[in-house]
Amino acid sequence: MKRDYYDILGVSRNATQEEIKSAYRRLALKYHPDRNPGDKEAEEKFKEAAEAYEVLRDPEKRAIYDQYGHAGLEGYGRPSTHFRDFDDIFSTFSEIFDEFFGFGPRRKGYVPEAGADLRYQLELSFEEAISGTEKWIEIPKKATCPFCDGSGIQPGYQPEICPSCQGRGQVYRSHGFLRIATTCPRCQGEGYIITHPCNKCQGKGWVKEKKKVKVVVPPGVDTGMSLRIQGEGEPGLHGGPPGNLYIFIRVKPHPFFTRKGDDIFCEIPISFVQSALGDEIEVPTLKGPQKLKIPPGTQPGHTFRLKHLGAPRLERGGRGDQIVKIIVKVPTDLTPQQRMLLEEFERIEREKKSTPYKRFWERMKDYFSSKFQGV
Ligand SMILES: [Zn+2]
Ligand SMILES: [Zn+2]
Repeated sequence: MKRDYYDILGVSRNATQEEIKSAYRRLALKYHPDRNPGDKEAEEKFKEAAEAYEVLRDPEKRAIYDQYGHAGLEGYGRPSTHFRDFDDIFSTFSEIFDEFFGFGPRRKGYVPEAGADLRYQLELSFEEAISGTEKWIEIPKKATCPFCDGSGIQPGYQPEICPSCQGRGQVYRSHGFLRIATTCPRCQGEGYIITHPCNKCQGKGWVKEKKKVKVVVPPGVDTGMSLRIQGEGEPGLHGGPPGNLYIFIRVKPHPFFTRKGDDIFCEIPISFVQSALGDEIEVPTLKGPQKLKIPPGTQPGHTFRLKHLGAPRLERGGRGDQIVKIIVKVPTDLTPQQRMLLEEFERIEREKKSTPYKRFWERMKDYFSSKFQGV
């Protein structure tokens, strides 16, 4: 004589689906074979509870059972009373077991997966990096195969139930006295295999496509920085979110300017006459030519700081400075007249007895004569 399903689960005849589910969970935990190894009675109770749950969770079967009892269910589809083995029970209620026993992965096909992130290297000119820009880039990206609509199956064919896992997507392996569900290696957890893969995507369900994406580059970026464009990575699977697109910035070198942080550096050559006499010169900047006063006696290598003519600061606001380094050019192509004038210049310098050269040798002579006096 078969026991009443409601009695087995210990719920009333008008129990809700939620009550039935939690009653079954409780019993399944209590009589689970992993907790009761070798206990025949627990095994029977476990199977009995599974059977009761299989009927009562299904509104249609439950209605038949309510009206006609056990007899009503005989010949109703797959005979629910004959689980061949535990694998049948496990597969029928795999969601509950996964939740409750923390068993292995679920069937892959139902799990939302986030799309992969994509990377793109964007080359910018020096000026573009300073002033910011907008660029359209083309990124190769996965897109649902239009030929098979993402199924990966050649149109006109059907997927076949995976023979290794009978469509469950999982296989069970004994591990000590634990039974552990693992993703089916044959179908990768999909539960079916494709005998005729789509010609266009080779069964992957997606094709690589070039997608145009607009990149807004803020002013002041530099090599090594990256921009994140949310949601422009690979699409997610089974309702998972798409990945992000990371734009890695590389700034091409400039023939005249270099950059260190927010400051821009350049070297300006002037003649030795300009350095001695002083002058007003024009210096190229990113905002056009700027006048710069060279005071008389400016030494080679001297730097001038032009305020707020550097790169925009990304976080703090404002701009860096432009730093101008003075390079003094020594003439190499003197005319006889220039040469004569320079010789004259040098003669006057010696007469002044104040050239650094002369002063140096005089100091040297003084030093040695005092040091070696009386030797
Ligand atoms: Zn396809
Ligand atoms: Zn399989």
